[in-house]
Amino acid sequence: MDDRVDKAFIRRAVEASDLAALRVALYQATGDPELAEFGPVATLDEADRARLADRAAHLLETRIDDLERRVPSDEELRELMDLVLGVPTRDAHFEVRKKFLCFTPYPFQFERPEDAAPIPEDFEVAIIGAGPAGISMAVQLGRLGVPYVLYDRRDEIGGTWSIHKYPDIRVDTLSLTYEFSFEDEYPWSEYFARGEDVRSYLEFIVDKYGVREHVRLDHDLEEARFDDDRSTWHLTFRRSDGERVERDVNVVVSAAGLFAKRKLPDIPGIDEFGGTMLHPTQWTSEHDVRGKRVAVIGNGSTGVQLLAPVAEEAEHVSVFQRTPQWIAPRPNYGKKVEPEVRWLLDNLPGYWNWCRYTSIIGLMTWHEDFLIPDPEWEKQGGHITQKSEELRDFMIDYIKSQIGDRPDLLERLVPDYAPMVRRPVVDNGWYKALTRDNVDLVTSGIERITKKGIETADGKHHEIDFLVCATGFEVDQFLWPARYYGQKGLSLRDFWGTESPRAHLSMMVPHFPNFFMLYGPNSQPVSGGVSLPSWFQIYAAYVAQCLHTMFEDGHAQVVVKEAAFEAFNADQDAVGAELAFIKDVKSVERNYYVGKEGRLIVNTPYETAELYAMMKAPDRDELEFGP
Ligand code: NAP
Repeated sequence: MDDRVDKAFIRRAVEASDLAALRVALYQATGDPELAEFGPVATLDEADRARLADRAAHLLETRIDDLERRVPSDEELRELMDLVLGVPTRDAHFEVRKKFLCFTPYPFQFERPEDAAPIPEDFEVAIIGAGPAGISMAVQLGRLGVPYVLYDRRDEIGGTWSIHKYPDIRVDTLSLTYEFSFEDEYPWSEYFARGEDVRSYLEFIVDKYGVREHVRLDHDLEEARFDDDRSTWHLTFRRSDGERVERDVNVVVSAAGLFAKRKLPDIPGIDEFGGTMLHPTQWTSEHDVRGKRVAVIGNGSTGVQLLAPVAEEAEHVSVFQRTPQWIAPRPNYGKKVEPEVRWLLDNLPGYWNWCRYTSIIGLMTWHEDFLIPDPEWEKQGGHITQKSEELRDFMIDYIKSQIGDRPDLLERLVPDYAPMVRRPVVDNGWYKALTRDNVDLVTSGIERITKKGIETADGKHHEIDFLVCATGFEVDQFLWPARYYGQKGLSLRDFWGTESPRAHLSMMVPHFPNFFMLYGPNSQPVSGGVSLPSWFQIYAAYVAQCLHTMFEDGHAQVVVKEAAFEAFNADQDAVGAELAFIKDVKSVERNYYVGKEGRLIVNTPYETAELYAMMKAPDRDELEFGP
């Protein structure tokens, strides 16, 4: 044990720990039968919690130096999972949760057998976008030895984390779940990593996994054109000095992201504003709100995240809210990882793994709890599900706890739609900021923007110097701004027509061979069991398996069959139409998850295990390989 570690240190470690993860990691490492006697930690009363904490502290004091890292058998793993949740883990969930636990290296990745066919000479994959998804694809291809180049239009890697530099930008899910499952040693400094930490993490991954030498920055893909005779894509990039770069590759994987194109509000007069106006994607270290009269339009994740720090510095802030959002608290948000917890992560085998697991427990039953309307409940006059309404009540109490005795605010802050049907927003002091003397919540509609401020429907003119349009993204402009042309010169935009984009399993489009999207249409997972970076690895493994089949069978092309694409999308739309995203009609119109035709476009409607079963290996019957 290191010198810092005495009884008091261990006690502090236990107090600050995720007790559910600590219990199961210690049980796995020691087999101590007393630990198995407790029910799920979330259900324990105070006395049992204290008893469990004492036992954990005792085991740490006496056993920590003898504990060894080892891979549990499936049987043991099931017992441990059941211990955490208190209910048996269904077979359908076991495999994906096991991988998310990461007891073996490179879970979710595809490995080629040793006797695999050689990769054809000069074969090359172009990955477009060096954000988390593109980096994930790069690591996967690197492990297979498939030559690739990772292009990005910007002058640094990181994707959305390179673009966004507004005040208090950080992840709003635990840092632990925002990491790739192949890397278990990254020492996050905060529970919810700041933007700059996420950038450092991605830089670390790019170096550690040998991706750096494959990166070409300042390459903005303008056009990708498929040559059916040669089975190659001809790519045209534009560089910032105007130079054009042309390149022929065998396969294109677009990891261009969902938040590539910012959306500015179509408010009359917006071009006439005389002060500083920006979208949060344009925020740089040069922007200074000290002493300024600021307006923030929008209360999505971005507008909410930046308000509290802006309100601290500005002379005055007017928050323009068009639709109230459910804005939820997160334990440990804004907190540094305590040295004692770092010590647990570094020294207690399995603690990191089980922390990952417990961090997604709340999301595992997301579908049945919040998304699938319960007909019995609705027959009794309820809305969506009982859990949904319980959450609504909890959230209202939370709002009251933050704003104090301000009924004027409360009535304007409570949404009329169910929680979880729009992207959950995390509270980093937004409600409290609204109670500051220098902050006003404006809910009267915006009529126009003038040279000096904003005019609202109630006839008021709000004078401002600095306007933040936290008004979101054109999420239906997948792949923007690149233009793709598939077989016979078919433009992808024409193929999609005026409707929102669709894809097979979010990745493939008929008539566009050797082309895959990561974070494409309907790719965003909504139920827990796996976090987004792990999904990127699952998508990347799917692509890798398609390439493997091409190499094995000597084919130069792979494309999804039109019938498979249509059948998948029909099913996907039918499943999606039954979920609260669509059924809760009050939220549909302004929910960016839903496209203009009233169908889901961003999220997958499928539950984690179901989606994983579809994606873990390509179904050959759905794909066409050749020539
Ligand atoms: P968003 O969720 O689309 O929110 C846009 C906001 O702007 C909404 O409040 C919207 O109001 C408002 N708005 C748009 N046009 C308007 C208009 N013409 N007049 C008045 N208000 C208008 O965008 P976002 O906040 O940038 O978040 C986008 C996504 O980025 C998030 O959902 C999340 O996935 C991601 N994100 C993640 C993090 C993180 O992890 N830390 C942080 C920020 C963002 P209505 O509701 O009335 O449409």
